[in-house]
Amino acid sequence: MREVDLRSDTVSLPSPEMRKAMYEAELGDDVYSEDPTLNRLEAMAAHVMGKEAAVLVASGTMGNLISILTHAQRGDEIIVGDKSHIFRNEAGGASALGGVAYNTVRNDEHGMIDPDHIEEAIKPPNVHFTRTAMIAIENTHNMCGGSPLGSDETASIAAVAKRHDIPFHIDGARIFNAAVALETPVAELVKHADSISFCLSKGLACPIGSLVVGNEEFIEGARKWRKMVGGGMRQAGVIAAAGIIALEDMVERLAEDHANARRLANGLSRIPGISIDPEGLPTNLVFFNVDRGDPANIMREMNKLGVKGGSPSRRWRLVTHYGITADDVDYSLEVIASAMRGYE
Ligand SMILES: *Cc1c(COP(=O)(O)O)cnc(C)c1O
Repeated sequence: MREVDLRSDTVSLPSPEMRKAMYEAELGDDVYSEDPTLNRLEAMAAHVMGKEAAVLVASGTMGNLISILTHAQRGDEIIVGDKSHIFRNEAGGASALGGVAYNTVRNDEHGMIDPDHIEEAIKPPNVHFTRTAMIAIENTHNMCGGSPLGSDETASIAAVAKRHDIPFHIDGARIFNAAVALETPVAELVKHADSISFCLSKGLACPIGSLVVGNEEFIEGARKWRKMVGGGMRQAGVIAAAGIIALEDMVERLAEDHANARRLANGLSRIPGISIDPEGLPTNLVFFNVDRGDPANIMREMNKLGVKGGSPSRRWRLVTHYGITADDVDYSLEVIASAMRGYE
């Protein structure tokens, strides 16, 4: 049976070029900084982001965690969006492992945070208060429709952080989707950031891995925290080899995922019982509401026909990625339309 997996871009499989590069990778022990393939990936990542240094970590969650642990001390707080992945989807790691509190400010529907809200949330030095040790934004913003934040929006938040001398972090799990959608170099989007975490394992189609990027001193600190949380890897060049291919060959390709997402969004907007605003979907995440019928049944029906995705709630997210073609999108639309048909 035909299978189209639209649950997430994390399900994307490595390309044949990646598998070959992984097989052939020159290796060493990275805890001694002796893996030549990994050293090359870290240098490439630092270069593309316009920063001094980078360190490979196991996941985006680990990347954000060690960034927080490097910037903040026990008893400090970080300012994050109330719909941010750091706050909602990382199992409270900053507080459980770092003793760091979350101070949330409102994300608007595009994932933007009003700089004035951040200004108000920053705690002045006072014996009663936690110290604000980091301010973070997310780009693209996962829960807010996969919207990209432009360099002006980022700069307006960075300016507040700078004024108060607080480190500014970008959770850039999908920062390359933002760069491609906005046709802006990624270095421009992260210009004001003190640290960035980005995923190799989502739209860039690697099997494993994220990178944390920043200045030399920050990355030295982050390496130590990575070791402490058990993320020091050995012949990690097998992972890095795929990452090199990702940075070389898979970035521009993201435009195909965005085109397929638009195709999916346009098709969904024509299915009775689905409400979607195709204007607000600039990258590879397609959010919409299933207004008729029982979403759990519709999902089951659709999964039976090989299209994976959906949710038992009315709010759905489908994701285009490497391996999903325009034809797969058309097939998925037929399947969803037929699963909805009983509810017209
Ligand atoms: C996926 C994601 C992460 C975490 O990445 P994992 O590799 O799944 O741990 C962090 N931030 C955002 C915005 C994400 O979408």
